[in-house]
Amino acid sequence: MTFDYDLFVIGGGSGGVRAARVASGEHGAKVGLAEESRMGGTCVIRGCVPKKLMVFASGFPGLFDEARAYGWQAEPARFDWLAFRARLEAELDRLEAAYRNTLKTAGVIVHDTRATIADAHRVRLATGEEFTAKHILVATGGWPFVPEFPGSELAVTSNEMFHLDALPKRALVVGGGYIAGEFACILNGLGVNVTQYYRGAQILRGFDDEVRGHVATAMREAGIDIRLGAAVTKLERAAGGIRVIGSDGSEREVDLVLYATGRRPNTAGLGLEALGLELGRDGEIPVDAYSQTAVPSIFAVGDVTGRINLTPVAIREGHAFADTVFGAKPTAFDHRLVASAVFTQPELGSVGLSEEAAREQEPIEVYATAFRPMKTAFAGKADRVLMKLVVSRASRKVLGCHIVGPEAGEMIQLAAIAIGMGATKEDFDATCAVHPTMAEELVTMRKPVRTA
Ligand code: NDP
Repeated sequence: MTFDYDLFVIGGGSGGVRAARVASGEHGAKVGLAEESRMGGTCVIRGCVPKKLMVFASGFPGLFDEARAYGWQAEPARFDWLAFRARLEAELDRLEAAYRNTLKTAGVIVHDTRATIADAHRVRLATGEEFTAKHILVATGGWPFVPEFPGSELAVTSNEMFHLDALPKRALVVGGGYIAGEFACILNGLGVNVTQYYRGAQILRGFDDEVRGHVATAMREAGIDIRLGAAVTKLERAAGGIRVIGSDGSEREVDLVLYATGRRPNTAGLGLEALGLELGRDGEIPVDAYSQTAVPSIFAVGDVTGRINLTPVAIREGHAFADTVFGAKPTAFDHRLVASAVFTQPELGSVGLSEEAAREQEPIEVYATAFRPMKTAFAGKADRVLMKLVVSRASRKVLGCHIVGPEAGEMIQLAAIAIGMGATKEDFDATCAVHPTMAEELVTMRKPVRTA
């Protein structure tokens, strides 16, 4: 049987674009791709990229303060949200065009419309067109989830945060994960009065406990009112903004309520159930190590599979899929040791096991240091950096590395190489320090602070 395409990709985000480009440009497959929104997906259009630019924007007030301590006669500065937003939009247009160009150069045929799956080898576009394909890749990503409660329609999600007409004066951020923490810090840095509600006992569940405490303390010191064990019962329109009624009966008024309560896979209405594919509890597509579903011609990569929801993971899954199916090189991405950064202020970088997870696994030593870094200490600030290594007592391997402080994301990328190679604590110690830096503490921690 001949097909219109060797591969049809649904979704032009990080995973789908990489798979399409490699399958077509490197392995010579005939590839079609459908995207119903803007090319680039969550990361480029409404996630990592605009978020990081907002993190940069929100960091300037702190820098102006430091500049004064370093002898600069800096006047109080004023932030122009609309000027920033215009530049942000222009940058996203540029990046979207670059993504389109990459696909064009690789020979991928792009359909700017929604596609659904008609059968195991057929996709149907919203335009009415149908195409047959030997393989179909679902890379439709995820979408913010907001629980239903009275007034929930008054809340915004991270999707809307890049398009606000004005910055609020007072904001409530609900959630305790990556997105809630990052936006609480961004808004706070931009001068918004921020309250954060988290339903549990400490924000950033899943990360090392000491790290979570360190970040939460620093966020509070920076002015964010973090309320733990806090939940919203109801939102109401009020004359001056939005009235928030808490589960403890409390009332407060804010101008913006941001719900960052997780994301769900984008699988509704795609036609997967009709094929007999059983989806996971949140709608995620179950796949094997090669991203293949139970229907052999259909694969899925990225957030829609609910494995690890990070852009570089989706990219690697997409690349591995293309090499496996079109490059005669079976490749399974290894999800075991993925480093990540949370762009709170201070930033958090983490790779490997938390102290708590490692302790469950085997006897460990913990090396940790918290100190005031030179640059901000000179400016009279109380900011503290945390560096932590979790080490196996038996193998001496570093099982986890956790950093809180400026450029923690940059540092953890490099630590991840060593840890991925199986570096021991003694390998770290044998590495000569780079002085004066913050990262030198990673190779100069001589005595464990505890064993477990
Ligand atoms: P997360 O899963 O990280 O966090 C969701 C938060 O919302 C948790 O604190 C959770 O609480 C809470 N929550 C869930 N349901 C409810 C509810 N019904 N009521 C109140 N609170 C609730 O999701 P995010 O939305 O922050 O981010 C989604 C994913 O995107 C992340 O997991 C991450 O993989 C990715 N991401 C990565 C970034 C990066 O690499 N820097 C940046 C942004 C996103 P609990 O802990 O109790 O479950």
